[in-house]
Amino acid sequence: MNAVFLSMPDGSETDISICTSCGAAARGRTNFDISEKCCTCWECGGPLTAEEKKHPGHYHAACDRLRRGKMDLARMENAALVENYNGPVFADGVRGGQDGYFRSLDELQDALADYDETAPCLEFAYCCTVSPIRINLDSVLEQITEEAYEDAYEDIKGVGELQESVDKFNATNAEIQTWNADYTRKVKV
Ligand SMILES: [Zn+2]
Ligand SMILES: [Zn+2]
Repeated sequence: MNAVFLSMPDGSETDISICTSCGAAARGRTNFDISEKCCTCWECGGPLTAEEKKHPGHYHAACDRLRRGKMDLARMENAALVENYNGPVFADGVRGGQDGYFRSLDELQDALADYDETAPCLEFAYCCTVSPIRINLDSVLEQITEEAYEDAYEDIKGVGELQESVDKFNATNAEIQTWNADYTRKVKV
């Protein structure tokens, strides 16, 4: 907000600028804005206290929340709307699921209906990518031979049989899944 270039005793200007609020210096003509923005909130332009500079840093706490809210909103707006989606959904902050994850849109709607007080107003939820848990035998073998002698990986025997068992294991446990919010796709709640 208040930055100046330092001058030499003879009055000639240097390329070192300082923030007049805290005295922090930045070298280089192109870094003048570092001094300018030093003790200033990047959201509203108002002055920051030393505490706020440390946390959340660069922003007033309220401005930081506002800014994050705007980013969340923009992300949701940009996500593609999916029709006839069948799968888990993510709705951050909604109670009753697992950290915002719900098995289906129905389950999310049930959770919203279960609120005693006013439920969060929700227009959309994110779709999820679904990956079954699985053992990757190659990476397991690489891992156990990592510290062994060179080319030990090639000397391992019984890999074919083990691979068959692993395939069976992976197929048997395909129902156990990991869900991850896909911020590029959304469904209407
Ligand atoms: Zn400063
Ligand atoms: Zn601010």
